[in-house]
Amino acid sequence: MNRRKIYEGKAKILYEGPEPGTIIQYFKDDATAFNAEKKGTINGKGVINNRISEHVFTRLSQIGIPTHFVRRLNMREQLVKQVEIVPIEVIVRNVAAGSLTKRLGVEEGTTLPHTLLEYCYKDDALGDPLIAEEHIACFNWATQDEMQDIAAMAIRINDFMSGMFAAIGIRLIDFKLEFGRLFDGDFSRIILADEISPDGCRLWDMETNEKLDKDRFRRDLGGEEEAYQEVARRLGLLPEESDADVLDMEHHRAKKGK
Ligand code: UDP
Repeated sequence: MNRRKIYEGKAKILYEGPEPGTIIQYFKDDATAFNAEKKGTINGKGVINNRISEHVFTRLSQIGIPTHFVRRLNMREQLVKQVEIVPIEVIVRNVAAGSLTKRLGVEEGTTLPHTLLEYCYKDDALGDPLIAEEHIACFNWATQDEMQDIAAMAIRINDFMSGMFAAIGIRLIDFKLEFGRLFDGDFSRIILADEISPDGCRLWDMETNEKLDKDRFRRDLGGEEEAYQEVARRLGLLPEESDADVLDMEHHRAKKGK
């Protein structure tokens, strides 16, 4: 298909969408870590992230969070609304992990007394440095009103996602969000953009503390494909054993028990 590539990032490619104001997000299997110093692929990741992100964005919009998601197009692509990305990564933390543990010497796994919001300036060359709200105001990356909307949405998203994952035995440790401006003439409003997937979340099994996210790749733990699949499976996004199989198994067990 002859469509215009708008941007190629580390894990996604953006193409011009079929109608004005839309974009196609293509999910790759490529994985990077440590500001792209470590590169690799996780087989099938793009397909799973496309599906998980669709699921999370759909459920968030059901509770009134405005998002860029329009619809999934195929295994690796989804149609989204074109926005102007706010150049800030919003990190939401419930439990200490990753850069927070390194920066402040807090032990990994320490539950934070309340949810912590952090902001990083989106700039690969600078390695996405941590910034304060004062920097955001000083350099005009977002207005105070926009930051209020962003913080309020991030907290609601965290509450919803923490519950959604807890229900399937997963602890939501931390995650990254990106927001964009959706324009309506001169007026713009903030909506959730990018993706939500195990690439940008830390997800630990509640019973075993096993990591079910990109840390498996970052730390060479292995089993990253299986971990991503497990998250999708628990969310009910992969075909389970068919009912017929389950019935079959029960039939066998009943026969054996006789
Ligand atoms: N994160 C992300 N993209 C980034 C930085 C962080 O998706 O560029 C996610 C990361 O997966 C984790 C959370 O944000 O779930 C917090 O990441 P942290 O600041 O601890 O950085 P890291 O340890 O990944 O360097």
